[in-house]
Amino acid sequence: MFAGEPCRSSCEQAIIARAVSLQERTEERSGEAVRPGGGPAVRLEGVRKEYGDVVAVDGVDLEIGQGEFFTLLGPSGSGKTTTLRLIAGFERPDAGRIELGGRDVSAVPPYARDVNTVFQDYALFPHMTVADNVAYGLRVKGVSRRERQGRVESVLERMRLPGLGGRKPVQLSGGQRQRVALARALVNRPEVLLLDEPLGALDLKLRQEMQLFLKSLQQDLGITFVYVTHDQDEALTMSDRLAVFNHGRIEQLGAPAEVYERPQSAFVANFVGVSNELDRDGKRYAVRPEKIHLSDAGSTPAPGMHAEPGRIRDVVYAGMVTRFFVELDRGGELQVVRQNLETSSAEAQDARGRQVLLEWRPEHQLEIDNPGETEGDK
Ligand code: ADP
Ligand code: MG
Repeated sequence: MFAGEPCRSSCEQAIIARAVSLQERTEERSGEAVRPGGGPAVRLEGVRKEYGDVVAVDGVDLEIGQGEFFTLLGPSGSGKTTTLRLIAGFERPDAGRIELGGRDVSAVPPYARDVNTVFQDYALFPHMTVADNVAYGLRVKGVSRRERQGRVESVLERMRLPGLGGRKPVQLSGGQRQRVALARALVNRPEVLLLDEPLGALDLKLRQEMQLFLKSLQQDLGITFVYVTHDQDEALTMSDRLAVFNHGRIEQLGAPAEVYERPQSAFVANFVGVSNELDRDGKRYAVRPEKIHLSDAGSTPAPGMHAEPGRIRDVVYAGMVTRFFVELDRGGELQVVRQNLETSSAEAQDARGRQVLLEWRPEHQLEIDNPGETEGDK
């Protein structure tokens, strides 16, 4: 935590309010805000941001395509929010270049960038009704009352909030407030929507529902989403591509399956997926728990499989799956996950202490760099 944090949302509200009123004036002057032309929706080149002696963002290069659902994934303190705020223009980079739609926006203030942000704490105006919150940006842009009403109603409908326009934010559930924040951003029809851990405050079931809803919304609207989360499941479920952040740098960037199936570092293997590592012949490997077959000791290994005998040290029954922790005779321990197709919890527990044979395909044994990696300031 840093000293400035408690004032973040009120600062942001002030910035939004000031920005929008400035936007009115700018638009009178220039006719319209900066709109993207060709090129990637977002491009960062060598972007760096320091706060005192903390390097929050340490030389990030990134290209996000138009209409892409792109996720910044990483532990707390890894620089995700700062990167998002640099794209929004709430922060200025100390070095590097930021482009939106192929245009350098380094000197363009937030209100003149064609992006909208959904903040982690929603930053709704508490004294305004839902409809006024959503209409705010349109009102200061000088959109007529009639058009405003139409657009607000339609976006509230789309966000499954019909009829709630007259309420104040405190009269809503967490999930509804979250959707008002989304509505307020989307009503402006931005080219790029920035979302900072938007589902963090919701319970698991609602969060999973909202993940699917957001994904289909993004596909319907064709807007570029830049989505920040520390939740690997969320990132894997929703993203077209994702970037794994660690200490202000991108450790790996790719499609979810690519990053999950072929982590390039121990940090990525452990952060995206469970830690399952093995030292063999002076090298370190990761093997995903669901790639490992478990059979009785003495079974004949299937052709082409890598096989190692071991003993089940512990068993964790988790409803849908059971996790087996297997100590290997050659040293080390691997976790194996099995779906509970027919196994009961009692049967699973019974396996503790049993001698077994683990088998996996050689290509599922991924060489990763040696440790020394650390997570952020979690
Ligand atoms: P994340 O969103 O991944 O949790 P942040 O981008 O918020 O990470 O923070 C990255 C690092 O920069 C952290 O060490 C954080 O404490 C620091 N930081 C972020 N914003 C500020 C600020 N306004 N003042 C000082 N330090 C900051
Ligand atoms: Mg953050």
